Amino acid sequence: MPRVGVLALQGDVREHVRALGSLGVETRLVKSADHLESVDALVIPGGESTTIGRLAERFDLLEPLRDRVESGMPVFGTCAGMIFLAAGVTEGTQPQLGCLDVVVRRNAFGRQNDSFEADLDIRGLDQPFHAVFIRAPWVEKYGSAVEVLAAVDDHPVMVRQGRIYASSFHPELTDDDRVHRMFFDLVDRDS
Ligand code: GLN
Repeated sequence: MPRVGVLALQGDVREHVRALGSLGVETRLVKSADHLESVDALVIPGGESTTIGRLAERFDLLEPLRDRVESGMPVFGTCAGMIFLAAGVTEGTQPQLGCLDVVVRRNAFGRQNDSFEADLDIRGLDQPFHAVFIRAPWVEKYGSAVEVLAAVDDHPVMVRQGRIYASSFHPELTDDDRVHRMFFDLVDRDS
């Protein structure tokens, strides 16, 4: 049974552990390069991407994370996790892994739409997914290896690039486990 790590620097770590646990998946909190070595896949939670980035830098996790993702470890980033995986942000700079060939706009839906919920059509799922967005980014630009799995008003909010999945919304905050299952199916196929 593959073991899935949850990057536990900041953010809604516990919610991802719960969501994976409800699928019967063995999870481990990842706070160091040593922990990273003991997992077969990784979830990067939502939270504050600048904080996650700075803590990853401080704990010397940027290079080990890049190496694992570049060598094919399945990874799923939600919201701030998507931003952290990305190649760039539309404004300023912050520590990012740069593994996912997208540029994201942070807090893209504006103050009015700070937090909202939407029934989203996701490629690969038969029925819409009730998605929770909290100060969410969208994908502003993406490279040819990136497949868009879902969009809101033509702005991509879920993408896949090989073994990298990323969503602007928070599947860990609802009881619907289909998005986590989609990711875990990939992990399971690989192992
Ligand atoms: N707005 C946050 C950021 O820019 C992301 C919000 C979230 O993860 N819910 O990092």
